[in-house]
Amino acid sequence: MLIFFGEHEIAQQVKSGEFQCPICNKQRVYSQHLAQSYFTIFWINVAKLENSSDYLRCNSCESCFNPLITQEPDKYRLAIDKSTILRCLCYLLSGYGDTVHSRKRLIDLYKNHTKLVISTQDIDTELMFINSGNSPTLPFLQNVSNLLSAKAKQVIVLACYQFALGSSMMEHQDRVRINTIGSSINLSLPEVEYLIVNNPG
Ligand SMILES: [Zn+2]
Repeated sequence: MLIFFGEHEIAQQVKSGEFQCPICNKQRVYSQHLAQSYFTIFWINVAKLENSSDYLRCNSCESCFNPLITQEPDKYRLAIDKSTILRCLCYLLSGYGDTVHSRKRLIDLYKNHTKLVISTQDIDTELMFINSGNSPTLPFLQNVSNLLSAKAKQVIVLACYQFALGSSMMEHQDRVRINTIGSSINLSLPEVEYLIVNNPG
């Protein structure tokens, strides 16, 4: 018998107001969202999961921020979704091989999904950070997961999938497929990773 299990997120808007969006560089309306995840079997909520999310989203560019940005704008100005896409793509880049061609693909994909332009220096900085070992990528993703909207998670997984798909290293194919499945049920990459580790069969 085939058992369908997964995760379902119930999100609610708790607050809205105006803030200076660092991505739009303008005063924008935000909405703050609280979401609770549930573990589901056959699409029925059976258990509340720990990873509830709490994020602030710019209503114009849809970037996700730490809700504390309204109190400390400089400290929390980083758009979590944008920095997470960059991190994931650079993480894949270092795995697949850092070539001129793959860097160009990375820059193009990043622009497609974020409308932002990054330089090859930005990639160097991110790679240096990744290779320093001070901030392992999967724990990093798990830490920011609750600051991301469901849509942002989908975009991140999609960008990763597209990047991996363009890679010529065939041994990653299986993993790519799993990520695709994950994205189709709105799972974040760390959630996909968790499922792989815990369901090796
Ligand atoms: Zn914005």
